[in-house]
Amino acid sequence: MDACPICDGVQTAFFARQDDYNFVACRSCGFVFLLPMPSAEALAEVYDDEAFGVGRYPKAKSRMRRAMFRALGLWPYFFGKDAIDVGCGGGFVAESMRRLGARVAGLDISPGSIAYAKHAFPRGRFFEETFETFLARGETFDFIHSSEVIEHIGDVKEYMTFLSGIARPGARLFLTTPDIAHPTVPKDVTKWDMFAPPRHVQLFTEATLTRLFDAYAFDIVKRYYKKNAPTLQVLARKRD
Ligand SMILES: [Zn+2]
Repeated sequence: MDACPICDGVQTAFFARQDDYNFVACRSCGFVFLLPMPSAEALAEVYDDEAFGVGRYPKAKSRMRRAMFRALGLWPYFFGKDAIDVGCGGGFVAESMRRLGARVAGLDISPGSIAYAKHAFPRGRFFEETFETFLARGETFDFIHSSEVIEHIGDVKEYMTFLSGIARPGARLFLTTPDIAHPTVPKDVTKWDMFAPPRHVQLFTEATLTRLFDAYAFDIVKRYYKKNAPTLQVLARKRD
């Protein structure tokens, strides 16, 4: 049960420790994750929701600007299509995609964020639901956006099953997450601001992400490399 969620290997080596949290690296595939992994309930408690709500979202204007910029770069993948932002927060990327011609949905576990999104962007469709509940709706999409979400997820297999379940054959998935193999990451990884348990419970490299995606029928077709920012940004395609 403490096996590596990417390769199912059970041999792990100590990687780093921060506060009371212990990160290990899988001896077989190198994946870095918290062990023990906190329960879903414990992780949910981490997310203090009170900053968000109807009419309240920190830095809403600059978020909207950045969301429009992001959406412009991905426009060919969602124009005239069904798109979803998984972990949509206040709905900025979903709204940007809608303005640029997508039929959109936004999903988030945070009640405050979804309350904000519904009020600020009444033409969008927003859902405050678990992956399991949303999956049961049977909706599928041509384009999935999921930015800075996967590193927070305690059960990464459940998350990938969800993404795979809502992706139509040939769908594109744009996903971003911190890149622990990036040259700008400090040698002492505990000094890296992305090394932040229990908010971030696992950290990927291009290799571990590629392997995980492959197990759920996603092939990475494009990598957006940022020289100065330790981020993995990839476009993947769901196999037919
Ligand atoms: Zn592994």
